Amino acid sequence: NKQRNVRNFSIIAHIDHGKSTLADRILEKTKALTEREMKEQFLDAMDLERERGITIKLNAVQLQYEANDGEDYLFHLIDTPGHVDFTYEVSRSLAACEGALLVVDAAQGIEAQTLANVYLALDNDLEIIPVINKIDLPSADVERVKQEIEDVIGIPADDAILASAKSGIGIDEILERIVSDIPAPAGDPEEPTKALIFDSLYDSYRGVIAYTCIKEGSIKIGDKIKMMQTGKEFEVSELGVFTPEPVKKEELTVGDVGFLTASIKNVGDSRVGDTITLAKNPAAEPLPGYKRLNPMVYCGLFPVDADNYNDLREALERLELNDSSLQYEAETSQALGFGFRCGFLGLLHMEIIQERIEREFNIDLITTAPSVIYEVEMNDGEVLNIENPSLMPETKNIKEVREPFVKATVMVPNDFVGPVMEICQKKRGAFVDMEYLDENRVNITYDIPLSEIVYDFFDQLKSQTKGYASFDYELSGYQPSNLVKMDILLNGETVDALSFIVHRDFAYHRGKHIAEKLKKIIPRQQFEVPVQASIGNKVVARTTIKAMRKNVLSKCYGGDISRKRKLLEKQKEGKKRMKMVGKVEIPQEAFMSVLEMS
Ligand code: GDP
Ligand code: MG
Repeated sequence: NKQRNVRNFSIIAHIDHGKSTLADRILEKTKALTEREMKEQFLDAMDLERERGITIKLNAVQLQYEANDGEDYLFHLIDTPGHVDFTYEVSRSLAACEGALLVVDAAQGIEAQTLANVYLALDNDLEIIPVINKIDLPSADVERVKQEIEDVIGIPADDAILASAKSGIGIDEILERIVSDIPAPAGDPEEPTKALIFDSLYDSYRGVIAYTCIKEGSIKIGDKIKMMQTGKEFEVSELGVFTPEPVKKEELTVGDVGFLTASIKNVGDSRVGDTITLAKNPAAEPLPGYKRLNPMVYCGLFPVDADNYNDLREALERLELNDSSLQYEAETSQALGFGFRCGFLGLLHMEIIQERIEREFNIDLITTAPSVIYEVEMNDGEVLNIENPSLMPETKNIKEVREPFVKATVMVPNDFVGPVMEICQKKRGAFVDMEYLDENRVNITYDIPLSEIVYDFFDQLKSQTKGYASFDYELSGYQPSNLVKMDILLNGETVDALSFIVHRDFAYHRGKHIAEKLKKIIPRQQFEVPVQASIGNKVVARTTIKAMRKNVLSKCYGGDISRKRKLLEKQKEGKKRMKMVGKVEIPQEAFMSVLEMS
């Protein structure tokens, strides 16, 4: 295959606009999959992804296409994760392409992540082909969406492709336009090698599998390669492409997108965004844009059963190999015992890791409420990064506390502007901008503390806008805030894992709310349990969990044995997620109760 007949492209879209469905149609049309092989949404490989309908890991598939001009083309379709937590990975996978199909739902129009993805594509100088999908829907409004693409994105939409990935409309036109509109890769096969790592996976036999796109030069089996960020060197043992089954190759050259293994035992040695070159004839400069990813959100993970501590450590070690942006270190909580403090790119990333630990490693977890990283400047000038609320120093020693802010963009129909602004205000947001996309839709921008986004922002947004709002954010920096640590005492003892950081103005309200909430969540014990919320030594709210009166089984009116059994099972199930703290039994929910308040 000639370089001029290669096309590397990606599909970008807001979630649910039909990216995976379109990818499937393209795979089908290019006969990459026979119908029997065709599993729906092939590119979403992990079970978890499929269930949640999101794409986490990037994939690259090589396809053969015979165009109407009679020539054979080689396509590489590079899949990108669609969620805001994975922005950096999206950007790197786009850097492997020359063009992108921009899929916009004909009924929904442009959403927050459509725009975020378009910016990333433009940053990477990609040719953008607009595809208006789901034209089969009765609510499709093609003219309005075209207008939005022109007004909001600023690219011509006259020649946007009208498609239905579901019913197979417009797919041929898409393939032809990939050929005619997207440029071939421009690199020189004779230049010193530069290959971009845009994803990596860990395989226990072969080590790291790096997904790579060759931008300059070539790589052969047996070559000594060098990672330009770390300087580490390895010998290439395998090269190949996905068709989508892996097919081994002797060599990858300019424009090829595939995988590489080289007995790399540590994912940290092959980081997304790094450039691979040859040790013998290294490139002078790496490809642009390498960035180390830092976690934005932290939480504690503790095994329900203390005996599972080592299993949990192993699970985290294994997951870290697959996911170099996951961070963890041992943490000891007075309340919860031995566990780990873990750092994540965002909330979705956090949920996915928690779920994988429970599912794939079969460990029941108690997770503490997520927290951001606070910058604490002490009176003596020292600056601490506090990612665990229970470690917040005493107020009298603190000069200033700063917290991370994000620029949040919410797109919403006109009718919901009021509720959205109300939520943003309540979340301590500062209004930045409001812009009409068309007569009916608005783009609202606020500066909001990240910690408020972590607390149920998106849930509130969805419920207040009947699901019509879409949302995206990016970190905008640290700002000083009047923050205090709130402690929760059960039975007179502070439960460190329940401590949280709160704005002073909200402290009283939140303290009261959480005390009431804990009263409902924590089951009655044999004795009365006072619940207190305090700042420093000052109690701001208190309630009491009354002592238990009767055995649960007495509700069964004697005879019905199956009902009795069910109840016992239910109790056992509930037990799994309980933790004895001092003399009080606390269920998992309690540790999250701080999240659900406004
Ligand atoms: P993704 O999140 O962008 O990958 O979106 P999916 O491909 O998972 O599609 C989201 C939903 O929209 C699924 O229920 C699809 O069946 C549906 N869908 C995708 N394309 C079309 C289309 O052209 N027409 C209609 N009516 N539904 C579609
Ligand atoms: Mg998808």
